[in-house]
Amino acid sequence: MVDLLIQGGSVVDGTGAPARQADVAVQDGRIVAVGQGLGAASRVVDARGLLVTPGFVDIHTHYDGQATWDAFLTPSCWHGVTTAVFGNCGVGFAPVRPGASDFLINLMEGVEDIPGTVLAEGIDWCWETFPEYLDALGRRQYVMDIGAQLPHAALRCYAMGDRGADHQARPTEAELALMGTLAEQALRAGALGITTSRTTKHRARDGRYTPSLSAAEPELFAIAGALRRAGRGVLEVNSDFGEGDFEILRAAAEVAGRPMSLLLLQVDNAPDLWRRTLDQIHAARRAGLDVTGQVGAKSIGVLFGLETSRNPFENHPAWAPLAPLAPRARYERLRDDAAMRQRLVQERPGDALTRWFDAAFARTFAMAPALDYEPAPEHSLAARARRAGTTAWALALDALLADDGKGLLLHPFENYSGGDFSVVQQMLADSATVMGLGDAGAHVGLICDGAGPTFLLKHWARDRSRGPKLPLELLVKKQTLDTAAVYGLHDRSVLAPGKRADINLIDFAALDLLPPQVVYDLPTGGRRLLQRARGYRHTFVAGTEVLRDDELTGQTPGRLVRG
Ligand SMILES: [Zn+2]
Repeated sequence: MVDLLIQGGSVVDGTGAPARQADVAVQDGRIVAVGQGLGAASRVVDARGLLVTPGFVDIHTHYDGQATWDAFLTPSCWHGVTTAVFGNCGVGFAPVRPGASDFLINLMEGVEDIPGTVLAEGIDWCWETFPEYLDALGRRQYVMDIGAQLPHAALRCYAMGDRGADHQARPTEAELALMGTLAEQALRAGALGITTSRTTKHRARDGRYTPSLSAAEPELFAIAGALRRAGRGVLEVNSDFGEGDFEILRAAAEVAGRPMSLLLLQVDNAPDLWRRTLDQIHAARRAGLDVTGQVGAKSIGVLFGLETSRNPFENHPAWAPLAPLAPRARYERLRDDAAMRQRLVQERPGDALTRWFDAAFARTFAMAPALDYEPAPEHSLAARARRAGTTAWALALDALLADDGKGLLLHPFENYSGGDFSVVQQMLADSATVMGLGDAGAHVGLICDGAGPTFLLKHWARDRSRGPKLPLELLVKKQTLDTAAVYGLHDRSVLAPGKRADINLIDFAALDLLPPQVVYDLPTGGRRLLQRARGYRHTFVAGTEVLRDDELTGQTPGRLVRG
């Protein structure tokens, strides 16, 4: 008699094999059999009509801080994620010298839009070294498994002090040696990888570029050498891929002899650059290097609302009396004051941000009622305003005031140069890419893509109308076997005997996303955007049910995974 029998579901096992009707038997947290007639069980779950998939492995999250105060890692727990990897994009909180946490908070606030007050209050800073940080995580229990990576910015600032944030400064030989030693220690203690950022998009809150931006070859090679000596870990990179950058990173991967995971997305100022990068990834793979591209399930889109980090009216003189108000009072004032609304819509300040919004309305869309993440250009605020003989500003204000002031505008700013997801489709279909870029836990005041695992299945296998769909089996593989393989997590992510019983049961016909919402549930009442799902009937982590009918059960079987 086994602990759990999942009976009669449509099994999509994570390998890309065709879905098949089968039962899944679980004993002591592991899958013991997949097939028919598997015998008796203490608990039988009727999965007829449901998809049975491995739990999702989300390798691109930013729970570095949240994992020190939140056992449930929302929103990922609502989207079938059973393993979350953080420490991405070169930012995080260890190692840190005593008293030096302010800069790392400043950096995380600027780069990933996690409020500094939340981090300062929420994190207890009971570590200095990365191994001590891992130990702090290892003492806690979670709804899912977690894995942490060593962020280059923290490493650099630990080794170089204040000079670490100075882009003119170069590390001395002694500092390079220290970085290498600490990186090797972190990997040996269980860091799943080392991450770095080479993008000008990443700035600290004080405006300075992220410390690793200007790291030269000797420094990257010092890190790569640590990966080689440790014989474990992944090099994860967020780069703008300026001239020569791929070659430097490829050389680092050669030194490391370890997998390299590169963020891959389309940017407007070089809309074909991602293709060149993908070609370079394929060339590196043909040469025997283990390089993958991390791609998104959709555009990278920012959300503007009355309560988000940005809104189109924030620099308007008439907005000044609204800014200090509590959200509800702000909405009511706007709703009741027609003269103020008229002023906001008709007078246009000449500042750069307002001009930016004016241009951005050509690619900005009201989210309600359809929650359409692949909207056609003719639905933009600018296009609708032209047809209606009004202004995009008037439509924007109406949209923000909808739903009692909870209305949102979507501005897709990456992966959307062509006005649809055709590049996303090509990225997802490519053999050298895996799912990533969800940034769960980050950008909490502007972006809400932690729901990516749900969107990937729902949009690409079921709902898409503006182009080809993708096979469900491929999509599941992209965020289970493929993502787990990047990090060598071979004990999970496939429904097969011997693997961890991380399992989702999904009502695929009913699978849906709820509208993103602004909530104030972070430490100190900090604000964030959250998005929930419908259709997850059960999620099991190591055989323990953590989610039932889209609600947490309160169980926390997840632990820190050490590399
Ligand atoms: Zn990131």
